[in-house]
Amino acid sequence: MRRREPFFANINLLGRCELDCPFCLGHSVPFAPSPKEIPNHQDWPNLDKFLDRCRGREIDRINLTGLNVDPLQYEDLSGLCNELHEGGFKVGLRTNGLHARERMAEVNAFDSVGYTHVSKKWCASPPDVVDLVRATTAPTRVSFVMTEQTIGELWPLIWKFRAGKKPKYLQIRKVWGGSDADCAMFDQFAASLDVDHKMEERFCEAPTYTVLGMKVVLWTTVETTANSLNYFIDGTISDEYVIVGGYNVARALERKR
Ligand code: SF4
Repeated sequence: MRRREPFFANINLLGRCELDCPFCLGHSVPFAPSPKEIPNHQDWPNLDKFLDRCRGREIDRINLTGLNVDPLQYEDLSGLCNELHEGGFKVGLRTNGLHARERMAEVNAFDSVGYTHVSKKWCASPPDVVDLVRATTAPTRVSFVMTEQTIGELWPLIWKFRAGKKPKYLQIRKVWGGSDADCAMFDQFAASLDVDHKMEERFCEAPTYTVLGMKVVLWTTVETTANSLNYFIDGTISDEYVIVGGYNVARALERKR
């Protein structure tokens, strides 16, 4: 699938996440300080260079996300968000929501917020993402990673959103590098959705539907045309949308220099 020109950027925090999601892309990344040891963003190498690269590509939207840690585990997230705003960027947050309730004033300073549904299978008390969406003033997106373990939680989640405030959309993701069984779950769900609902439009080639009044996007990363620039707080810069692959390639090139 040919990708579009990058139209947003990510700042990927690195650290030690308190969760251990089986599909986490960051397990192989060696730089994983404890949250208290994550250096302040004033000391992150190449950040200014990356922001200049974004401006040069006319990208004005940056998401704060994490590769092996959640951004809400970083203490000075507000300071970073403010500085990016002052630099002329719109700033989005991508979080598992574990600390969103206690930091809701900071969360609400973002221009958009993406919550990832946390499964009861690997978190004893997962946050209530329906409650978080209702408490968040910025437009929200909810991501649901479809696996054999999580599928049983999908319809109850959709059902809970049927009344009251909804996210801008629910993104159902095919797990990256998942097992055959995980991939089959997604494919079966996609096929059944297509039988019962009319596909309305495509976003970056991903099909979208309306289910119980909520927009639902079926997201298979390799089959979309989405594209972004990526920065990692150890100073690595990647022009690849594929996060870990791009990180590893950029690091290998850096070592050769
Ligand atoms: S919450 Fe995110 S960073 Fe943490 S283990 Fe899960 S996928 Fe990885």
